[in-house]
Amino acid sequence: MNTGPETRNSAAATSAPTSANSAVATPATAIVNIASLVTNDPSLGDESPLGLIRDAAVVIEGDRVVWVGESSKAPATDNRVDAGGRAVIPGFVDSHSHLVFAGDRTAEFNARMSGRPYEAGGIRTTVAATRAASDEALSANVARYLREALAQGTTTFETKSGYGLTVEDEARALRIAAEHTDEVTYLGAHIVSPDYADDPAAYVDLVTGPMLDACAPYARWVDVFCEKGAFDGDQARAILTAGRAKGLHPRVHANQLSYGPGVRLAVELDAASADHCTHLTDADVDALASGDTVATLLPGAEFSTRAEWPDARRLLDAGVTVALSTDCNPGSSFTSSVPFCIALAVRDMGMTPDEAVWSATAGGAAALRRTDIGRLAPGTRADLTLLNAPSHVHLAYRPGVPLVSEVWRRGVRVV
Ligand SMILES: [Zn+2]
Repeated sequence: MNTGPETRNSAAATSAPTSANSAVATPATAIVNIASLVTNDPSLGDESPLGLIRDAAVVIEGDRVVWVGESSKAPATDNRVDAGGRAVIPGFVDSHSHLVFAGDRTAEFNARMSGRPYEAGGIRTTVAATRAASDEALSANVARYLREALAQGTTTFETKSGYGLTVEDEARALRIAAEHTDEVTYLGAHIVSPDYADDPAAYVDLVTGPMLDACAPYARWVDVFCEKGAFDGDQARAILTAGRAKGLHPRVHANQLSYGPGVRLAVELDAASADHCTHLTDADVDALASGDTVATLLPGAEFSTRAEWPDARRLLDAGVTVALSTDCNPGSSFTSSVPFCIALAVRDMGMTPDEAVWSATAGGAAALRRTDIGRLAPGTRADLTLLNAPSHVHLAYRPGVPLVSEVWRRGVRVV
């Protein structure tokens, strides 16, 4: 490794464990004997995008990382955890999920795997079940899938409304989501509510008016499904612009099922992320490469609908920032497993294992415009995962194997 890390870390190393107010500070913990550590900080370790450090250690104080470097140089700490030669990566940042729902669409999946194409209208089935569910049932469902995701290494997740489609049901979904995460997205514009099937314009008025007013207090983001059968470019622009006027930042379900205006609209409005990006023209790719909008790829959806894979290689070669997420939802991608998505991205979308792991950690953080997560460097949040493997490459090399052995979130071992 280069000499940069020791220089960078020396201040934190000397001040953190031995600072004058250490009596009131949380005791520091060193995780040592890490075979390979992904920091996602190119100035650390091997200077690759992953900032890989071999034979590494991480020192945690409170909810923060205060030091990373070679294990033999780790400062003295009150607590020491031996990683036993396992690999450590930043906790996954799943920047796209739909977890506030009720019901089940096993029959739809089963039918689709028998040859029936996926259409956006399948969402209506989940809308009916979600409206009928109690608050307690919806919250318990979110908690269940969060536990499932955490056990697979996800320490931050975004989730959305979109299965209520009335003022009350959308606001309720966001209130429940906000009990579980800070990354909450208003998706009243998931599909045109069945109640407005004859008057989509009136539904857009609702989404940009009373529904937005009721939902904005619980949300950070506004999203729209810009797609044939959902919302067109003009409607999507009106919805995102109205949300932005209420202090919500845009993100867009764009170019999933067909070519369309979603990606270019996302870049034009400086959306944090354009999600799916499966059907892209050269102009779409150029737009993404020229802006700050992350392309979030969701291969669970293509897997679960037997659709064409998004071309990650094309985006990466054009210089686009790519995130990988689950799109966990009961209709088109019922997986909470980021490792599964990494394996798909490497096998079928042209990503290298390094790129896929970066996209599922630092890429997800970029899609949420966060710099405190998705990396392991002094000052970042102590969200990390120990793998039962000597290298992060095993996430793609050993698909389907439960490699996550420990998860630390905000400096606490939670799995
Ligand atoms: Zn989605």
